[in-house]
Amino acid sequence: MEQSPAFATSVNKQKIVVIMGSTGAGKSRLSIDLATRYFKNSEIINSDKMQVYTGLDITTNKITMEEQFNVPHHLLSTIDPTKTVLAPSDFRKLASEIISDVKSRHGLPLVVGGSCSLIYSLVTNEFDPNSDVFNGPLPDPVSTELCYDCCFIWVDVCLPVLNQYLSKRVDEMLDAGMFKELVDYFQSGECERVFESGLGQSIGVPEFETYFKKFPDTPADPNRKQISSSEDSDEENVEYNEAIRRIKENTYVLAKKQVSKIAKLKDAGWNVKRIDATEVFRAAVTAECGSEKVAELWEKLVLERSVKIVEEFLAE
Ligand code: ATP
Repeated sequence: MEQSPAFATSVNKQKIVVIMGSTGAGKSRLSIDLATRYFKNSEIINSDKMQVYTGLDITTNKITMEEQFNVPHHLLSTIDPTKTVLAPSDFRKLASEIISDVKSRHGLPLVVGGSCSLIYSLVTNEFDPNSDVFNGPLPDPVSTELCYDCCFIWVDVCLPVLNQYLSKRVDEMLDAGMFKELVDYFQSGECERVFESGLGQSIGVPEFETYFKKFPDTPADPNRKQISSSEDSDEENVEYNEAIRRIKENTYVLAKKQVSKIAKLKDAGWNVKRIDATEVFRAAVTAECGSEKVAELWEKLVLERSVKIVEEFLAE
């Protein structure tokens, strides 16, 4: 058993905000809106288990420097994937130290990311690295003893709508250069088996493994951006399209799993406030809706509600 961080007592726990949700649900956008417009002393601590590593920025869909709007971000791109595989217990140690630092600056820690195993390791009072509360035929019971005073916000989007958005997002990631990033990654040899529990697990890497085994040195066009047309039926195109199809499928599977893990924590008694962002995403994937309408729905349905939740939490 790992002891709870020394600073946390049951009487006076530190307040943190935890923004949860599946991949693509808008957690980063919400955290930046909160930090830039309402709670300006916020600092963001990433809790996505792939985004902690340096590399594969597009493939793991990291927030860009521009999108960060100078809000301090921690544990984002900070771990060298060739040296360390970050275990939940390591995350607990690093993130709890950062929370103490943020608090010493009178800041508000916003823990933002979709990896429930990392969030669980950080906030449970006594974390057992050998216990698994999410997986297996006989998962361990979820602990409700938390070492922080947590405001959990869950940005949720109904899965059929989210999947439409995720499919579009993969296309946008290709436009942004994901394939080129993977070409460089595979050609650098960093995806060796030894790292398979770290960055090499990112969706995009295993899905492209067969492709790069068949075409190790000479992908037809490293800068290609989209799915090849159905008339292009040569082997290279077929493998490429198959890899993209798998990326989309596995992203849907990831989103579903992440949602079920959050629901499990809520069902176990964690005070998770669910915010339904479905209508925002429905508008975003519907061609007729302009970006102004999407922004308006976001403000009303997600941001305003979140601000109210955080304000009430801080006033308690
Ligand atoms: P698990 O119990 O599976 O470890 P978790 O809650 O710790 O789940 P998740 O965030 O659900 O962590 O990640 C599970 C898997 O999803 C990762 O191992 C990886 O394959 C993929 N994944 C997670 N985040 C990303 C990301 N940002 N980019 C690409 N793939 C990701």
